[in-house]
Amino acid sequence: MGNRKKLLVLAASAAMVIVGCQQTADSPVVEKQPPATEQIIGVYDLARALGLRVSESKPTHVTLKNSANTVTIFTISGGQIYVNSKSICGAGRIEKRAGHIYLSKSLIPRLRSALRIVTTRPKPRRMSGTVVIDPGHGGKDPGARSVLGFYEKTVNLSVALEVARLLEQKGLRVRMTRTDDYFVELEDRAAIANDLNADLFVSIHADSFPKSSRRGYTIYVARVASSSSRRAAYAISRSMGGTGLNSFGVQTAGYHVLTGTRGPAVLVELGYLSNRTEAALLRTTSFQDRLAQAVADGICDYFN
Ligand SMILES: [Zn+2]
Repeated sequence: MGNRKKLLVLAASAAMVIVGCQQTADSPVVEKQPPATEQIIGVYDLARALGLRVSESKPTHVTLKNSANTVTIFTISGGQIYVNSKSICGAGRIEKRAGHIYLSKSLIPRLRSALRIVTTRPKPRRMSGTVVIDPGHGGKDPGARSVLGFYEKTVNLSVALEVARLLEQKGLRVRMTRTDDYFVELEDRAAIANDLNADLFVSIHADSFPKSSRRGYTIYVARVASSSSRRAAYAISRSMGGTGLNSFGVQTAGYHVLTGTRGPAVLVELGYLSNRTEAALLRTTSFQDRLAQAVADGICDYFN
């Protein structure tokens, strides 16, 4: 080995040693990092991730809600978390930056497992159709006078307005023959339904009879009534059965509003103002609302 060769060998082994030293000293080669920062998430994003909404944000706590759950996160003194009034865990790291609250992302799975499942009911189908609601009498025509002194026109209007409200909620187009205490001719009431080509006309009255013991509701159709009129009458009669009143069922009569309307038409006699018990019931808003609900339910059954 010549000097030149010796030098090369020495250099090579020195290099190996150096490389070897470096490997042993720094192995495994990992770049030094600061400790992994805990991932945080804004409270609004946390709510979204869990299918909740922020319903309240106070200096002490935040409330997140959906239809089945209430989550309260205390952002002070230890930060406890309550899901549906049950303490589930501490919030851990809480950061407040510029008025925003940030929490650990690790809360997402922990909260998710504590939440009740939201059962989504199918949205009730919007109904379509035009209904004319006719509060009987009005203005100079008070209708029957109850044994307690009040007049039929008042009860009719009150129930009819509530029926209209309930039907509109269901998506039906509603037109009333009167919306206050004024007189409307019978011909004009029928004409409103005919002009609109209404799918149903419902006249609302309260009954009276010389014999005060008589009580109950009656649904009328014209003597020559279409099958649609009868179907509507039976639907309303059925649902009114749930009010607890005695039922006279579906009957026929020659009332002008029934014979003058071209489309399906029914007349509802809510109960007897000549009977003390029924008059007392018919005077109360709560019973008027119950009757209105029954009439509206019957109408909806007819449209279904
Ligand atoms: Zn009447």
